[in-house]
Amino acid sequence: MRFLPALGIAAVLLSPIYSPVERMSEEIRYSVVSKNPDGRKVGKILRYLQRVPEPMRAKLNGFGGEFVIFDRVSSLEGLGRSELILLSIAGAGYANKKAYVAENSETCGSSNGMTVPELHEAGHMVDEAYGFPSQNSRFRNLTPAALMGSYDHWAESYGRFYCDDNSNMELKEEFPDVHAYFFKFDAMNGNASVRVSR
Ligand SMILES: [Zn+2]
Repeated sequence: MRFLPALGIAAVLLSPIYSPVERMSEEIRYSVVSKNPDGRKVGKILRYLQRVPEPMRAKLNGFGGEFVIFDRVSSLEGLGRSELILLSIAGAGYANKKAYVAENSETCGSSNGMTVPELHEAGHMVDEAYGFPSQNSRFRNLTPAALMGSYDHWAESYGRFYCDDNSNMELKEEFPDVHAYFFKFDAMNGNASVRVSR
């Protein structure tokens, strides 16, 4: 298990969105179990995870959450067969307070309206750490029946809200009520500086 030095990367990458940047004392807890880690890819994942607001990171750390970065499914230990099959297909997953993310992650998808896997899985972790707000009737009522269900809708929307300005704006256009919900969730649990530009 290693800890990400929080300030340097965050200050450079997040300043256009998250200003002013304050010193962050809570660091994302993660481990790299890749057989042949690619530093560039791992760094990219960690930069996305920096977009989880600091108070939520503190909550995740207190909750015991951890991100596990892998290159090959065979390098993952302690998982059942069905979980391994799922991870080999999806490249990411969440189980037992651990978010598994493959090194080949995408960028915040402005073309397909999807977030990056690491922030989707972070969304699942935050959801559980805060007592599954995805299952409250308040959020379930915001989830269209045709969608994948409120559990995944919550995680996906969480990721889109925090991924970047584009994904945030697209969420607002596609699901204005969900965007308003996360705006409020962020105001209550997140980083006040995020709200400036949104
Ligand atoms: Zn999911």
